Amino acid sequence: MRLRTAAATPSEQMSALPRASEVVVIGGGIAGAATAYYLAKAGVPVTLCEKGRIAGEQSSRNWGWIRKQGRDPRELPAIILALRLWEEIAGALDEDIGWHRGGVAYLAESAAELARYEAWLPHARAYQLDTRLLSPTETDALLGQDGRRFAGALFTASDARAEPARAVPALARAAAQSGAAIHEGCAVRTLEMQAGRVAGVVTERGPIACRAVVLAGGAWSALFLRHLGVELPQLNVKASVQRTGPVPLITQSAVGATRAAFRRRQDGGYTIARSGAVTFDLTPAAVRHFRAFLPALREKWGEIKLRLGRAFVDELTTSVSWAPDRPTPFERTRVLDSSPDHAVLDQVMRDAANLFPQLRGVRPVERWAGMIDVTPDEIPVLGPVDGIPGLLVATGFSGHGFGIGPAAGYLMAQLATGRAPSVDLHPFRFARFQQRDVTRYPEL
Ligand SMILES: Cc1cc2nc3c(=O)[nH]c(=O)nc-3n(C[C@H](O)[C@H](O)[C@H](O)COP(=O)(O)OP(=O)(O)OC[C@H]3O[C@@H](n4cnc5c(N)ncnc54)[C@H](O)[C@@H]3O)c2cc1C
Repeated sequence: MRLRTAAATPSEQMSALPRASEVVVIGGGIAGAATAYYLAKAGVPVTLCEKGRIAGEQSSRNWGWIRKQGRDPRELPAIILALRLWEEIAGALDEDIGWHRGGVAYLAESAAELARYEAWLPHARAYQLDTRLLSPTETDALLGQDGRRFAGALFTASDARAEPARAVPALARAAAQSGAAIHEGCAVRTLEMQAGRVAGVVTERGPIACRAVVLAGGAWSALFLRHLGVELPQLNVKASVQRTGPVPLITQSAVGATRAAFRRRQDGGYTIARSGAVTFDLTPAAVRHFRAFLPALREKWGEIKLRLGRAFVDELTTSVSWAPDRPTPFERTRVLDSSPDHAVLDQVMRDAANLFPQLRGVRPVERWAGMIDVTPDEIPVLGPVDGIPGLLVATGFSGHGFGIGPAAGYLMAQLATGRAPSVDLHPFRFARFQQRDVTRYPEL
């Protein structure tokens, strides 16, 4: 059972590559597609190059949660903007992307867990969010249970969901309708520089002259930057997911408990997985960035499956210097499509059935995995790169970039056209890693 993602196949696919564009976007995930969408809507000539398929990687493989709740407080202004943009996008697209404000609930199985959630409420109050604690009775009502199994829940009614595999290709199609050139199967190999600033990109299908480049390469951004001589501390972890066929409605809210989380799907099934149950392949990058990631590793040690295997050798033998007229690693792996961890998913299914009796006897019909790109402080990089004028980066969303993605694209479009971003991007600056100004908020 592996994921078959709906290819976007926008109309521009395989058409001639433009020789010049105001902005080139590298990567057709949510961040890249949203950047192209907002630039095209503003009338700015933009070309998006995607090495594989639009939303072939993380952006179609995620859970589809769009939440303010539980976020690192530094992300709150951007996610508040993102929810507004999601609402607008859902209304503007002529396709149903499964957008629904059904709320998000984090269930507490103990008083201690509930207290941990309660500690997040001051952040909600600072931004006048509708986040609140549910009592055990209210939690039962939300879940259609009556056993008072849970000590309560953290709940945000205005949080939402959408169908990742539909939403991102639809956004790319809308960008194309507004004039963006979208090219799938078109890896960007390197940048062209002139007079010390970005003057274009070299793709596998030829060069494109441009004034600005937005790198939204997800799990590949660090490799692209390393090739340019810039070190981004970014590691990739594998997360496994499964979906069921249609089952009776439990709740419209996306629901997370420690051992199992689920989200109602547009097709009447549930996407079911467990937060934090990830596999991490030890790689040379992990060794290089060990100190930076140590706090995160310490916190999640019990949940992470650590492996030393082929990935180490693969990365070790992947050169970061390549010629622009030769195939690059981006062309050798068009779509990152790792195998899901069936043992973890079997356990998640058992736990889900114990926690939510309505799921007893329900079987998964599809399983898949996605590679999540993570930074040491688990917030993204959004902004310019010192020393490479004209290059902007939107990456490192650390497992929660689907929700915030439209805002990332909106902000990148503002930066790429010389406008002031409507959200303070200081916490997301690239330079924080060199300045060793990296603070990590413990995950809820
Ligand atoms: C299992 C799982 C569950 C998740 N659940 C949620 C959730 O519920 N809510 C949430 O908000 N987030 C969630 N996330 C995280 C979210 O999916 C990601 O943060 C987000 O999709 C990242 O988007 P992106 O555009 O940065 O990267 P991606 O979607 O990975 O897209 C990057 C694209 O760039 C392309 N690319 C890279 N290099 C090049 C190159 N040189 N040339 C051309 N193309 C290139 C790649 O092929 C890829 O398609 C989850 C992630 C996973 C894996």
